Amino acid sequence: MDLTVYGGPDGILTGAEELIRSLEAEFSVTDPESGVSRLNAAGYGPVSPETAEVLETALALSARTDGAFDCTVYPVLRAWGFTTGEYRVPSQAELDSLLPLTDWRKITVSGGSVTFGEGQKIDFGGIAKGYAGDRLIALFREAGVTSALVNLGGNVQTLGTKPDGSLWRVAVKDPGGEGYAGIVETADRAVVTSGGYERYFEENGRTYVHILDPKTGFPASAGLLSVTVVGERGILCDGLSTALYVMGEERAAELYRGSGDFDMVLLTEDGRILLTEGLADCFTPAGDWADAEITVIRHDEN
Ligand code: ADP
Ligand code: MG
Repeated sequence: MDLTVYGGPDGILTGAEELIRSLEAEFSVTDPESGVSRLNAAGYGPVSPETAEVLETALALSARTDGAFDCTVYPVLRAWGFTTGEYRVPSQAELDSLLPLTDWRKITVSGGSVTFGEGQKIDFGGIAKGYAGDRLIALFREAGVTSALVNLGGNVQTLGTKPDGSLWRVAVKDPGGEGYAGIVETADRAVVTSGGYERYFEENGRTYVHILDPKTGFPASAGLLSVTVVGERGILCDGLSTALYVMGEERAAELYRGSGDFDMVLLTEDGRILLTEGLADCFTPAGDWADAEITVIRHDEN
């Protein structure tokens, strides 16, 4: 994680580090003492305001993406070994037994209390970094900082502009190589990328990525190499980037046309770039993508 803050009071970065550690202690599924682990073990209970807020946002995103984002996919994710790194391909019978647990509709959150359906477990891996970014930006803003950049591995969040007033230049990684596929110029926005290339394993010549399609329990394969979402709220951008990767270009474009709170860059497996209109003038392709065909998706098309 890289945090860059211009100005601000002494100790601001120490406060930021403490905040990140406290969120890790609340959300980690590999720490059995975390708030989320205790909730997963019990299946119900009072939760911290942070967990209630993130869970409510996660459920709203599930509704909005027709379940492409679903934090209850965790038991299936565990079967693939994506949480521990002990990767394996589960049998269809095992997936069939775990898939009924993947259903965000069975979760209720009210008044700081959560109830799961029988056997359900959750994981905020698709959304927690965005939430952490939002909290860090809020911490900096409240301390009077007007210029900062937070990079939480694939999630970049910016406060204000660069100190000289110019826009931040955020690179979108080339999913197929070392360099980058383009640059987003922006201010006061989160720029969050999800892709199969970050965490995956190979077995018998097949590649399995760590973003699952909650409907099948299999790694998503909707024709996209990566999805970058740009917007004001990091948590929303993070959840959406995961969901849109599952949904593929057509469903992603449809969701965009019905929304007003994000823009996106899609890199397709066949080498095309799809950009939404809010980024048409602030995305510059680069490297192997410099000459790629670019299609702009507009709100008023059908
Ligand atoms: P990264 O964590 O690499 O930045 P993402 O934000 O796309 O990437 O999150 C991927 C993580 O989200 C997975 O490691 C897993 O914990 C979780 N996840 C996987 N598939 C889904 C899904 N369909 N809905 C919600 N969370 C998911
Ligand atoms: Mg995400």
